[in-house]
Amino acid sequence: MKVTITKQCMGDRNCNELCPEVFEYDEDLLKSTIKLDKIPEHLKEVVRKAAEECGAKAIIIEE
Ligand code: SF4
Repeated sequence: MKVTITKQCMGDRNCNELCPEVFEYDEDLLKSTIKLDKIPEHLKEVVRKAAEECGAKAIIIEE
């Protein structure tokens, strides 16, 4: 699984709160970024949840 965040991110940090192992807030860009190139098995479910909950639909998952 690979995850990217589009420019549509509105920086509400919901994904960061759900899964800080994967999502990180960039204080300069005022958007979230991805810390890992490849998502480990045990974090996939929470990453899918973050994508579903993202109000900006900015989290893109490639399985
Ligand atoms: S939940 Fe979506 S809009 Fe909110 S910080 Fe994460 S990627 Fe950005």
